[in-house]
Amino acid sequence: MIIDLKAVFLAPRRFEFALEQGWWQGDQENDRIIGLDGPLKVEINIAKAGSKYVLDGRLSGRLIIRCDRCLEQYVSDLESDFSLFLAISPSGQGQSEIEFLEDDMGIDFLSGNEIDLEEVVKAQIYLSLPIKCLCSEDCFGLCPVCGVNLNIETCGCQRKKGHPAFLKMKNLKFKGETE
Ligand SMILES: [Zn+2]
Ligand SMILES: [Zn+2]
Repeated sequence: MIIDLKAVFLAPRRFEFALEQGWWQGDQENDRIIGLDGPLKVEINIAKAGSKYVLDGRLSGRLIIRCDRCLEQYVSDLESDFSLFLAISPSGQGQSEIEFLEDDMGIDFLSGNEIDLEEVVKAQIYLSLPIKCLCSEDCFGLCPVCGVNLNIETCGCQRKKGHPAFLKMKNLKFKGETE
């Protein structure tokens, strides 16, 4: 969805739309985001502030994500508010830049006075991901030796070696305990 910022020059504008499940196209094969689980609701306000534009948005929906530990898919709620400043370079040669309020990421969504709201949404979805995407806090992940998913099955290699934390506990002695 391409918006001409000149249309925002006099009055703020509000955009509300839903991106359908098939909208997401990952960037690469090993993308952590598999896709959307149902439609993604998007609300975006754009207003002019001095020489800049302020874009406030909200995303709500669900993502299908690949767990970093066990590589299985899981569904995660996406509720994200964001604010961006858009700046159009004074040269007006189609070279524009976007400043994020917090991180200064040099992502260029603008060509001339136009902004692609879907590109903004896509970038915000990536920014909303945690550093580690886990299907559950205590996901056991894959066995580093044989590769089985330890949430579903157990394997001989893990039992022999034991988890380091358990080995430590085995050696703990309680006060007053004698050998
Ligand atoms: Zn997992
Ligand atoms: Zn194993």
